[in-house]
Amino acid sequence: MALDPARTVAELRELRKLTCDENGAQRVAWTETWEQAREWLRGKLEGIGADERIDAAGNQWFTLRGDSERALLIGGHLDSVPNGGWLDGALNVVAGVEVLRRIAEEGSPPLTVRLVNWADEEGARFGRSLFGSSAAAGSMADQDEIRGRTDAAGTLWVDALAEHGVDLDRALDARSELETAAAYLELHIEQGPVLEATGLPLGVVLGTFGVERHQVTFRGQAAHAGSTPMDQRRDALAAAAKLELEIREIAKRAGGGAVCTMGAVVTKPGIVTSVVETAECLLDQRHLDAGTLASMLTETKEASERFAGEESVEVGWTRIWSIAPILFDPELIELADESIREVAGTSHRLPSGPLHDAAEVSRAGVPTAMLFVQSLRGLSHTKLEDTKPEHLELSVQALDRLASKMLARVAASLPA
Ligand SMILES: [Zn+2]
Repeated sequence: MALDPARTVAELRELRKLTCDENGAQRVAWTETWEQAREWLRGKLEGIGADERIDAAGNQWFTLRGDSERALLIGGHLDSVPNGGWLDGALNVVAGVEVLRRIAEEGSPPLTVRLVNWADEEGARFGRSLFGSSAAAGSMADQDEIRGRTDAAGTLWVDALAEHGVDLDRALDARSELETAAAYLELHIEQGPVLEATGLPLGVVLGTFGVERHQVTFRGQAAHAGSTPMDQRRDALAAAAKLELEIREIAKRAGGGAVCTMGAVVTKPGIVTSVVETAECLLDQRHLDAGTLASMLTETKEASERFAGEESVEVGWTRIWSIAPILFDPELIELADESIREVAGTSHRLPSGPLHDAAEVSRAGVPTAMLFVQSLRGLSHTKLEDTKPEHLELSVQALDRLASKMLARVAASLPA
């Protein structure tokens, strides 16, 4: 039985039927529907000779033993956001099933091949993404914070974890899963409009953007909207508004796919009869190049001080979160490019704005490659998320090609 990419599309539809309702996918991690999806996956891999195990962080692994212990990993995540799309995360897992079938059919592979369904990539219920992969990568360092987190209904995350067999104190034991990893491969929908705009079905991901997230607070003086002359105001919102327009120019000047977003501005006192005293802005800046990201941040800080001066207000910055850019393996990027050209004629290289499990695996030191397939209208995290079936099939073929190339490459480098 050769690779059957149409079967992947059929199985994705089957999973959609099982775990989506009229509002979209409901495979939120640590819920019944998510367990149902894991059970479904178990059924799909029955009888091909792969052993299943759930690791200490709740990641679901299927291992096809090969001649060497060294392992090629293929990974994705079956969990979704509430009212999510049918493909985000699931495509990589279900396509991986097809690749595993093809490899199993051909007899004992030169390397061990493992499919991983990462636990809680989305962080939809408890607000922290990449739970399973960050535990396996050893980068999880916020257990104390995780312990205190609750969902909207007040359920503690640790309790939800325990219900699904995960002991938070032992989650980092999942690190042992990556000990034999020789390479990691992930296929994902793009979740953005770039490939559709270029008219290409597939692209190679160069890496994931570094992110700088800050709260920028402007402080002026509340004053009566009727009695305070325009030239005597200390209007915090005026400075915030200037900054919101300036970050667009900063991103434009930085180029290379730079993005800057002011996702929220909360004004106080927030009434129609008062000049704004404080404007709290949430700022998100991303770039693939660490140096460019740093200079975007510096430029934004300088601009905020300039606007604060112009409006006679004060400005303060607090870092919320940041992560450095993570670049994927240059050799594997070449192989991925080659695989795409073989199945689709033309390839395209692009960075990823969203973070992915692949970034965690890569920063654990495992050579990593990632493929994107076109998303229609660039939409994701909504039931409108979609990709043409013929593009889905091409993506399964490209994943399979790349898996073969990676197996051959790593096998050739093993001591005889
Ligand atoms: Zn995803």
